[in-house]
Amino acid sequence: MAIEITLLGTGSPIPDPHRAGPATLVRTGGQTLLVDCGRGVLQRAAAVDVGANNLDALLLTHLHSDHITDLGDVIITRWVTTFDAQAAPLPIIGPPGTAEVVRATLEAFGFDIGYRIAHHDDLTEPPPLEVHEYTEGPVWDREPVRITAAPTDHRPVEPTLGFRVDCEGTAVVLAGDTVPCAGLDDLSAGADALVHTVIREDLVNQIPMQRFKDICDYHSSVQQAAATAARAGVGTLILTHYVPAIAPGQEEQWRQLAATEFDGRIELGDDLHRVQVG
Ligand SMILES: [Zn+2]
Ligand SMILES: [Zn+2]
Repeated sequence: MAIEITLLGTGSPIPDPHRAGPATLVRTGGQTLLVDCGRGVLQRAAAVDVGANNLDALLLTHLHSDHITDLGDVIITRWVTTFDAQAAPLPIIGPPGTAEVVRATLEAFGFDIGYRIAHHDDLTEPPPLEVHEYTEGPVWDREPVRITAAPTDHRPVEPTLGFRVDCEGTAVVLAGDTVPCAGLDDLSAGADALVHTVIREDLVNQIPMQRFKDICDYHSSVQQAAATAARAGVGTLILTHYVPAIAPGQEEQWRQLAATEFDGRIELGDDLHRVQVG
């Protein structure tokens, strides 16, 4: 079965007028899965007719702010736009620490939740959520979609997860933020596509500020992500989370850098770029 990947947000922690924060939509087998929920995620999702109440699950690769900025928006907006009192809770799947972040988010929105319960007769309970923490292994098995997690290496951020989505013979891996590592290699082996966050080490290193240079030591460069894709034998590499943002007209330069290590299909672009796999 085909898997459709939509890059909802291709940005990074640095606000950009044209790029939302990290978030990727995966649609396959009748299911809609959101991986990370960076700045502006629901605005971008609305552009492809997906609302918070259409999500079957939210997957978090790690708890860095840029990847979870809009967690509160996803939770509250789903709650207030779900009109079926019997609707299933939103599964939120992430690394250890996720339950604490979700709890604190609900607490931060505690006044809002109270106002809305007081105001609407049909809202009687806080947002229904179901948090599952994993470090590796199977995390989702709902016919026909299976999802497996594996540890990645984004230290000192840990633990961090990559996810592999399998649907009837097609597989896509979402790496999140990581340097090349065995966990990601094993997870990606034999998949059809790899979605990888990337930085331009050559450009970031030109910035004369240590805090920017620090970014390089826990992310993959474009070439490193491409080498991971080549080792895994995937047919398609999808680049996202561009640091710095791809300047207009520079897409080919980024593609060329990836092509030095990987000779398959290379996809990159703006928010809402869509790739069909399988
Ligand atoms: Zn990160
Ligand atoms: Zn990030």
